[in-house]
Amino acid sequence: MAAPRILILGPPGAGKGTQSSNIAEEYGVEHVTTGDALRANKDMDISDMDTEYDTPREYMEAGDLVPDQVVNAIVEEALSTADGFVLDGYPRNREQAEELADMTDLDVILSLSVDREELVDRLTGRRVCEDCGANYHVEFNPPEEEGVCDECGGQLIQRDDDNEESVRNRLDVFDENTQPVIDHYADRDAFVEIDGEGTPAEVWSEIQNAVDERTE
Ligand code: ADP
Ligand code: ADP
Ligand code: ZN
Repeated sequence: MAAPRILILGPPGAGKGTQSSNIAEEYGVEHVTTGDALRANKDMDISDMDTEYDTPREYMEAGDLVPDQVVNAIVEEALSTADGFVLDGYPRNREQAEELADMTDLDVILSLSVDREELVDRLTGRRVCEDCGANYHVEFNPPEEEGVCDECGGQLIQRDDDNEESVRNRLDVFDENTQPVIDHYADRDAFVEIDGEGTPAEVWSEIQNAVDERTE
């Protein structure tokens, strides 16, 4: 089979980024993530799109969704050049799901579920490498040396939006906008729910089984 087209869904903190890295490496597909793409373009001028704010930054710091036109364009561009992908962070509402349906078919739809209080602990303890984007957690997945990336030696930082207030808003935005999208995918053959509460290795093994089963 050609390189798989994989969608990974789940609330903020469910482990999408962590597991997408595994998927990209194991299956040789591109990791397409709207969060990283937006963070790299936080101050781009979107004022011509008739949006409430002039850049993505204001939306992101508050934990609100960046307007659909901005993210739709990012995903359209990324998928048009990808031979197989794992799509992470999109779609986050029904309108985006409709756009995606026009862009591509999906071979596997993974949905990671994790309890809300566990998500708050994961997000407030998250640290990311400012150079390569690798993910850590101060308690659940610490680097060998505090504050230093195991992969590249870069410095680990806390994201602006990984504070408790923004985290709680992101979880509310998820419940209201993104959970209905997941419910909508749930009756597809490609859909599989993954228990996201095990160790990262346990979750990864469940994901591999699910992908292998659907792409033989
Ligand atoms: P997390 O991994 O914590 O869920 P992301 O890195 O995916 O966070 O996203 C960070 C922020 O970027 C979101 O809170 C939102 O402001 C913006 N964002 C990312 N993806 C989308 C999207 N598909 N639609 C709208 N906004 C998005
Ligand atoms: P998402 O991309 O869904 O927002 P991340 O992959 O960034 O989630 O993970 C959020 C935080 O939780 C990170 O600090 C990560 O190291 C940690 N984490 C990821 N998977 C697990 C797991 N299975 N158990 C405990 N912590 C985890
Ligand atoms: Zn790094």
